[in-house]
Amino acid sequence: MSTDTTTQRVFNFSAGPANLPLPVLETIRDELIALPSAGASILEISHRSPEFLAIQADAQQRLKDLLSVPDNYRILFLQGGSRLQFSMIPMNLLGKSQCADYVITGTWGKKALDEAVREGETCVLWDGKKTNYNDLPTMSELSPSTNSAYVHITSNETIQGVQFLESPGWDVPVVCDCSSDFLSRPIDVAQYGLIYACAQKNAGPAGVTVVIIREDLLKRSSESLPGYLSYQNHASNDSLYNTPPTFGIYVVGLVARWLQETVGGLEAMATRNEKKAQQLYDVIDQSGGFYVGHSKPEHRSKMNVTFRLPSEDLQADFLAQAKQHQLCSLKGHRSVGGIRASIYNAMPLEGVQQLRDLMLEFAASSAGHEK
Ligand SMILES: *Cc1c(COP(=O)(O)O)cnc(C)c1O
Repeated sequence: MSTDTTTQRVFNFSAGPANLPLPVLETIRDELIALPSAGASILEISHRSPEFLAIQADAQQRLKDLLSVPDNYRILFLQGGSRLQFSMIPMNLLGKSQCADYVITGTWGKKALDEAVREGETCVLWDGKKTNYNDLPTMSELSPSTNSAYVHITSNETIQGVQFLESPGWDVPVVCDCSSDFLSRPIDVAQYGLIYACAQKNAGPAGVTVVIIREDLLKRSSESLPGYLSYQNHASNDSLYNTPPTFGIYVVGLVARWLQETVGGLEAMATRNEKKAQQLYDVIDQSGGFYVGHSKPEHRSKMNVTFRLPSEDLQADFLAQAKQHQLCSLKGHRSVGGIRASIYNAMPLEGVQQLRDLMLEFAASSAGHEK
């Protein structure tokens, strides 16, 4: 019975919500009616039951172990997606006489800034707009404002497909939107004041957002903030201020377990991800200009591979052929166009190899016809 639905699965290159590891989906299916620990569904049990508290503690511990999160950080599970973080970050961390610094490396960084502007003084340290966000600054060429409350960066720009390889090194707290490369590689959490990631790219289903915040920053949350919007409030209630996204937290725990027990940790995951991305970038680089990557080679994302074909017609044809080969959701974001292959942790190497083969075939069969 199970193999029927499994064999119907396509290779899903969606940017988010995105594919989940098959063993995780199988566990969810097997446990959906009755969690072994509870005799009831995860969808039915109280968020204050010992069974759910154990699930949440397990998910936190697994994230802590995977990322080697130091003891002076708290791991929160919130709702409202990364978009709500765009507002909560300045609401909690930006003081009256301070400036919030933003590094704009693509669409998401810009949207984060747009929300911060509503909350207080902001400063743009760098903006890649002039080259349509195909480039990144080096961390050493950026200097935070003298009264900086924090510097906000986006580790991976999901739409443009550029990714920081460097860690930041500033004394002011660094706030990082890791939504689309969270758990894809090791990260030195101690370099950051706050890391956040909506789960639906790489860590679980839509509906839960992970926030990892250094404890000293919790003191900045003003008493006058609405209850839900205060990090201090969520931390002191251990993410149980109101009903947390229980199903999402459960799935994040399963994904973390898969990373630990099946993949073998984030170093191993990063190696897999690099290998997958290289397969596609090699085809782009060896296509004699048929495929043109969006990002400068040195900033290429291992998660979202963005490129164009010589014409819109060829692009449409390519997408149609891909669909016939069960390679789905490859159309680029409407703001950038072209093709975007999102190859998060759960995309198997086999899916990437099939896409690579199609790219090779398509370029060969279109040679000479594109003009
Ligand atoms: C998807 C994404 C977001 C937005 O997340 P929501 O959960 O839809 O609010 C923000 N930042 C990055 C980098 C993303 O990839």
